[in-house]
Amino acid sequence: MNTSYKERIARRLTWVTALIFSLVFLLIYLVANFTVVRNIDRELQLEVDKHKGEIFLVDGKIRFLYLNEWKQMEHTQLQLNPIFIEIVDLEGNSMDRSPNLGENHLTFSPEKAKSEEAWTQKIGSREVRQRQIPLLNAGKQEGYLLLAKSFEDSRELLDNLRNVLLLIYPLILVSLYLSMRYLAGKSIEPLEKISLKTNQITQQNLNERVPETGTNDEIGQLTRAINSLLGRLEQALQREKQFTSDASHELRTPLAVLRGTLEVLIRKPRSAEEYETKVKTALVSIDRMSAMLDQLLALARVENGKNLVKEELELITFLEELADKITEEQAHPIQFQSLVGVPIYVSTHEKSLEMILQNLLENAVKYSQAGGKVILRVGKEKEAFIEVVDSGSGIASEYLEQIFDPFFRVQEALDHGIPGTGLGLAIVKKLAQESSIRLSVSSEKGKGSTFRLDFNKTS
Ligand code: ADP
Repeated sequence: MNTSYKERIARRLTWVTALIFSLVFLLIYLVANFTVVRNIDRELQLEVDKHKGEIFLVDGKIRFLYLNEWKQMEHTQLQLNPIFIEIVDLEGNSMDRSPNLGENHLTFSPEKAKSEEAWTQKIGSREVRQRQIPLLNAGKQEGYLLLAKSFEDSRELLDNLRNVLLLIYPLILVSLYLSMRYLAGKSIEPLEKISLKTNQITQQNLNERVPETGTNDEIGQLTRAINSLLGRLEQALQREKQFTSDASHELRTPLAVLRGTLEVLIRKPRSAEEYETKVKTALVSIDRMSAMLDQLLALARVENGKNLVKEELELITFLEELADKITEEQAHPIQFQSLVGVPIYVSTHEKSLEMILQNLLENAVKYSQAGGKVILRVGKEKEAFIEVVDSGSGIASEYLEQIFDPFFRVQEALDHGIPGTGLGLAIVKKLAQESSIRLSVSSEKGKGSTFRLDFNKTS
């Protein structure tokens, strides 16, 4: 069903209110009914008490204690709320009755002979509450005194009450439904504005934001959450754009060098040495491009650690072997240090850790003087940690954040013609994130740098 939210809220609230109101109205009616009936019954009881001692049946004849008074009594006249009296014998045959009854008789009910209760019934067109009490003569029952009191006024009151309740019930529900619909519509207005604005935001105007209400309610929180999501998306897109433009720029440079070299070569015939030097230059460009493509691929392959299979790894043996391997590859001594004498086990993805350390160690060698000290250190405080320490050029503090951005290279590295793509530390950062390893760096310009990997409990 395609009912709007405000419609649904209004309907539900109206249903609930309808139920509550019907119960309340029913209760009001029942209480009113009960009170009215109880009042009449009380009055009837007073009349019963009054007449019980005044009327007797003696050998089938009626005797009045105060005959004169009886004759003058109210029930001889037509009154607004009169009392009706009738005396019947044991079979229910009428012996006498108050004149206000006219042609009518009160009803004799043998089954109510012993009942102390009043009941509602009709005499002629009139509704009355009636009581029936036995008349005794010297302990022997000789007939019944029937007393009734008009129920007309009370019935009218109850009927009026019922009609008013029945009339205002739908009125209340309709007005409640309409006001609920209006209020619900008003309350979700900000949501409609949010969805309208969100629908207008595309890749082209990702800098725009949903207007904030400035409140700290649910709508305010939703707006802020959407805006912060938009902010993150914008940044990610920005990074993506920057990455693509940096990657093309970086690839264009060696390509331009390659093209220039080849163009120079074909301009005129050259000597064998000249060919050799130019081809070597071309090969360097090709190597640079190929290294960069390898690293770009490596960066693209690092996923979000979801499918990463972690295994138990003993760090001391692993790092010792790695230090030897890099020493050989880089032709530069890597000194291995273990700060603890017992094996250190971590749960990690071995290949990722190897790639991280390979990059860090290669950098340590690359940015150190020939033969400069490079240390691969392992230790355990609360958890295991690894440090790659060099005493090379160091990094100025303002670059310490940026060195992890793709393609970022400190100008000095460029100036000194140190080969590199600016992708190594970006890969390290992504791999560390993927393996839940905390990566930090401390460095002092001219003194050297320390890159530290901290394993957490789960890594
Ligand atoms: P690349 O080494 O290919 O330039 P990286 O991403 O590995 O790229 O490093 C980025 C920059 O950080 C380097 O250009 C260099 O300026 C700086 N850097 C990284 N490691 C070190 C280090 N151990 N000592 C000094 N500078 C470093």
